[in-house]
Amino acid sequence: MTRVNVMQPWLGAEEVAAVTEVIESGWVAQGPRVAAFEAAFAARMQVPYAVAVSSCTTALHLALVVAGVGPGDDVVVPSFSFIATANAARYVGAQPVFADVDPETGNVTVDTVKTALTPQTRAVIVVDQGGIPVDLAAIRELCDPLDITVVEDAACGAGSTYRGRPVGAGAEVTAWSFHPRKIVTTGEGGMITTTREDWADRARLLREHAMSVSAAERHRSVLPPAEQYLEVGYNFRMTDLQAAVGIVQLGRLDEVVARRRELAARYREALADVRGLRFVDDPAYGTANFQSLWLEVSDPFPLDREGLLAHLAEADVSARRGIMASHRQPAYAGLEHGPLPVTERLTDNTLILPLFHQMTEAQQDQVIDAIRAVASTGVTS
Ligand SMILES: *Cc1c(COP(=O)(O)O)cnc(C)c1O
Repeated sequence: MTRVNVMQPWLGAEEVAAVTEVIESGWVAQGPRVAAFEAAFAARMQVPYAVAVSSCTTALHLALVVAGVGPGDDVVVPSFSFIATANAARYVGAQPVFADVDPETGNVTVDTVKTALTPQTRAVIVVDQGGIPVDLAAIRELCDPLDITVVEDAACGAGSTYRGRPVGAGAEVTAWSFHPRKIVTTGEGGMITTTREDWADRARLLREHAMSVSAAERHRSVLPPAEQYLEVGYNFRMTDLQAAVGIVQLGRLDEVVARRRELAARYREALADVRGLRFVDDPAYGTANFQSLWLEVSDPFPLDREGLLAHLAEADVSARRGIMASHRQPAYAGLEHGPLPVTERLTDNTLILPLFHQMTEAQQDQVIDAIRAVASTGVTS
C-alpha cells in the first residue's frame, strides 16, 4: 500500500519546456506571457477582460477595490469558505457579514444572502465552493436593483459550468486561483475576470503600483517616459514564469475536468449502497469540476467524520476535513452573525476524498475498500 494524497497537481514536460523558454528569453517578470495567458483565459471563460494577479486572495482584494467597497460598508460572504473570502472584506476596511449555505451545494443562495443583507451592504461575495456552481442569476436579481455588487469567488471553479457557460461568465467581476490545490495551477497565482472595461483598466493599474507606464512598456523603449504613480497601488503581479505554466495548464482543462468527473462518478457508484454517506453532486443548473469531492457522514454510518478520517489514514489514505467555517476562527472571534446551522453541520460532518488527474483505479479502490470495510463490519467509533 502506498499513500494516496488528497490532491496532486498534474505538471509535466510541456510545463518544463514553457518555463525554460521564458528563462532563456531573459524576461521573467510580468510581460508577454502574462498578456497571452490573460487572453487565453478570457476566451476560455467567455469574458471580455482578464487581469492576472499574484493569487485569488489579491484578486478578491482588488475586485472589492475596483467595485468601490470600503470603510463603513458591509460585504456578505459565506462563512463556509476558505478564509480568504471573508478576509477580502477586511482588506478594504469593510465588515464581512456571514451568510449560511445550502446543504446540497455548500453555496449561498438567494435566501441565505437576503437574510444577511444590511442597509450597509455594498457587495456580496458568492463562492463556487469546491467547484460546485453557485446559482448566480437569482442572487443578481436580488442584488442588482439594490446597487450591490456581486463578486464571484471562482477560486475552485475553473471548468465548472453554470447554465451552459463557464462559471464566472455571468458575474460583473470574478476571482480565480491557480494554487496547486485548484484545477489549473501556476504554483501561486490568480486572475480577475470582468465584464467592465473600466474595472479591468483600474485593476491593471493597481496591480502594478498604479504606475502610469508599465514595466514592460518602459523596458521596450531606450529612453522611457517618466512614470507617475496615480494613486496608492500594490504589487500584485504575476510573473511570466507562472503565466507560461498557466497557458499549458489551461490547454489541459477540459481533459482534467472530464477525468475528475469520471472518477467522481466511479466513487459514487462504488459507494452508492453504503448508508449514511451523501456525496455532493451536480446541481440541476450546472456541472461541477469536483475540485473538492466532499461527502457528508451521518447515521447510520458506523463512524463519524473524525473516525472515518482516522480509519482512512490507517489505510494510508490522506482525506481532508471538509470546508472550514470562517466564523469559528480566532480571526473572526467576536464578530456578530446570525445562525449558521447548515455551515456548522457541513463543516463538522463532511470530508474531502482524494481525487486527482493521475489517480489510478487501484488507488481509488484503496479508498473505496477502506470505506466499505467499515461499512460492512459495523465498527463503531
Ligand atoms: C483557495 C481559495 C482562495 C484563495 O486562493 P489563493 O490563490 O490561494 O489566494 C479563495 N477562495 C476560495 C473559495 C478558495 O478555495
